[in-house]
Amino acid sequence: MKFGALEAGGTKMVCAIGLEDGTILEQISIPTRTPEETIPDIIEYFRDKDIVSLGIGSFGPVDVNKQSETYGHILDTPKLAWKGYDLLGNIKKELDIPMELDTDVNGSCLGEMTFGCAKNIRNVIYITIGTGVGVGIGINGQLVHGMLHPEAGHILLRQHPEDTFEGWCPYHGTCLEGMAAGPAIEKRWGRKAIELADDERVWDIEAYYIAQALTDYIMTLSPQMIILGGGVMHQEQLFPKIRQKTLEMVNGYINTKELRDIDHYIVPASLHDDQGIMGAIQLAKWAAGITE
Ligand code: ADP
Ligand code: ZN
Repeated sequence: MKFGALEAGGTKMVCAIGLEDGTILEQISIPTRTPEETIPDIIEYFRDKDIVSLGIGSFGPVDVNKQSETYGHILDTPKLAWKGYDLLGNIKKELDIPMELDTDVNGSCLGEMTFGCAKNIRNVIYITIGTGVGVGIGINGQLVHGMLHPEAGHILLRQHPEDTFEGWCPYHGTCLEGMAAGPAIEKRWGRKAIELADDERVWDIEAYYIAQALTDYIMTLSPQMIILGGGVMHQEQLFPKIRQKTLEMVNGYINTKELRDIDHYIVPASLHDDQGIMGAIQLAKWAAGITE
């Protein structure tokens, strides 16, 4: 059986054909333009591929509630051409196969839980720190939705005592995304994050904010593993700093075998940037009724 997988991003659409074990047989990348220009290319790609179902990990905000009349619609996005667009419905009109859609970060979380470093772990958080900060949450093996989907990249933070940066989130200023996403680093220091690799202060402050967020997620959701991905996390020196600061902030209040083995608790993404598309394969399997 072959499954279709679509990772719908703001800059590119990755389309792939995969097998039940997560093997990617082929994939292409299509630049994201307006829906009218982009969707026909996606349909054209999948049309003769003999897939049984399609899984979609989408940029957000997007309606992920299967019971909703607007399931699969893009919601209030600054990408105006896509605002209110019925992503799932417009694909379904042309490809009449079972489909399941979730957020891109929930998709990445699912990819890691099914095929990656979190295989067989049922309570997992996946965080991407890139142009923005997105958080996917798997609890009891299921992806978390509520009235919408979690927006845990926008949690509010305590300012680092030596940091005067006012934050760049247009809604919250100094939320996690406003303080720690790639553009926040660039605006705070006046240079691109990648050019600041050797400046210890940059990564101490960065780790301080990420560790605060992880502490809040640990206290709230009690994950068994926390996975960090996205462009900024290519700075590997962040990992030991984040682990140490997280333990300091938890401050012994909880004491679990996972926290005692912190190097295997807070870990990098493991699927070489395929976690999103592999998660979409798993969503396609769910759509086809394969639930394990
Ligand atoms: P996106 O979030 O758009 O999907 P990325 O995850 O690649 O894409 O994130 C892009 C952001 O990550 C940019 O702000 C960029 O400056 C930053 N970034 C990319 N690569 C690195 C790197 N090696 N070190 C530090 N920051 C990086
Ligand atoms: Zn915010």
